[in-house]
Formats: sequence, C-alpha cells, structure tokens
Amino acid sequence: MDHCKHCGKELTHVEGRKKKAFCNVNCRNKYFYAGRKRMIEQAKAALAKQENPKQTVIVGSENEFMGHPIPEGLSSIQLAVWKNTIKVKAVGVKKM
Ligand SMILES: [Zn+2]
Repeated sequence: MDHCKHCGKELTHVEGRKKKAFCNVNCRNKYFYAGRKRMIEQAKAALAKQENPKQTVIVGSENEFMGHPIPEGLSSIQLAVWKNTIKVKAVGVKKM
C-alpha cells in the first residue's frame, strides 16, 4: 500500500492507471511548495557562504544586473534569489 507523500494517508490505485503519489491536488501542491521553499533556503545558504562574490565575476554589461556583477556558477534558482537580494538592497538604499 502506498501513502500520500504529503500527509501519509493510504492511497487507493486504480488498476491500469498511473499510480498516484498524493491523495489529492491539495496535498500535491503543498508538497511541491514545501520542496520549492527548501530549494530557495538552500540557494540562500549557498549565497551566504560566498563572502565576496565579486571575485568570481567576469566584468561586462551582459553579466550585470541593476549595476551589480552577476556571480558565476549560480543555478537558475540561486540566480533568482540573488537578483531578489539585489532588488531588496536597491529599495533599502532608496529609503535611506
Ligand atoms: Zn495527502
């Protein structure tokens, strides 16, 4: 017997149909949202470890975002988090 990956409820499979991994759409959404959140947290942690990302950067307009050089070797999710950090910083400076 398989169980829902999110809530652990027992799953009933229909013969000949693809096996389900979740008892309903709600559980599936929650499960994937939690996974995505974890990925973002990991990306943030990875960025935090890079004390000076500028050292790994190739200077050039194509490698800049809002005037900041984009660190090399970031995965797309890390890049998204990095860009968001830049945006937050930019807003913070304007307020001060
Ligand atoms: Zn469930």
